[in-house]
Amino acid sequence: MNIILLGPPGAGKGTQAKMLVEERGMIQLSTGDMLRAARTSGTEMGNKVAAVMDAGELVTDEIVIGLIREQMEANPDGGFIFDGFPRTLAQADALEDLMKEMGQTLACAVELRVRDEVLVERIVNRAREAAAAGQPVRADDNEESLKTRLMEYYKKTSPLLGYYHAKGKLKRVDGLAEMKVVKASIGAILD
Ligand code: AMP
Repeated sequence: MNIILLGPPGAGKGTQAKMLVEERGMIQLSTGDMLRAARTSGTEMGNKVAAVMDAGELVTDEIVIGLIREQMEANPDGGFIFDGFPRTLAQADALEDLMKEMGQTLACAVELRVRDEVLVERIVNRAREAAAAGQPVRADDNEESLKTRLMEYYKKTSPLLGYYHAKGKLKRVDGLAEMKVVKASIGAILD
């Protein structure tokens, strides 16, 4: 089964994806994680996208579609949780083509619904907790980048809600509920 987790930055997509990996053996495909890994290893692509990511803007469709293709080809049996991808209509179309090409189907796109105020709070907390634990703080977890990330979400990603709704694939869960409750809601949809 393949699913998409949709929602603005800080909605809890990564957290939920990791729990699905643990409990259901699904494969998390986070383009954000892939891009951060490319930066850390200092690849040419990683260096190219660094400034764009830090500013909170979206990197090109071509780059992220390439990353997703690579991962899908490496895991022909599927079972993907797309986390942070697609983020534009062009990416959504490309994903559909990739799925067809690989004989995969999309079960649903799950929207994690949240309020903006909570997002800012969550992201500021994420940065604070990482710092307190001596872990690296994401360069884009600051208020300025967050504003841009939210604007990118509303301008470019939120149209995907209509896109998947029109395909009869959109499911919604309350992303403000407790982590365990959100997890149970997603579980109920998948079962
Ligand atoms: P995330 O970890 O999903 O919040 O992504 C962090 C950053 O990586 C985003 O703010 C973008 O700069 C970039 N990014 C991640 N996924 C995508 C995507 N599907 N399309 C474009 N840019 C992306």
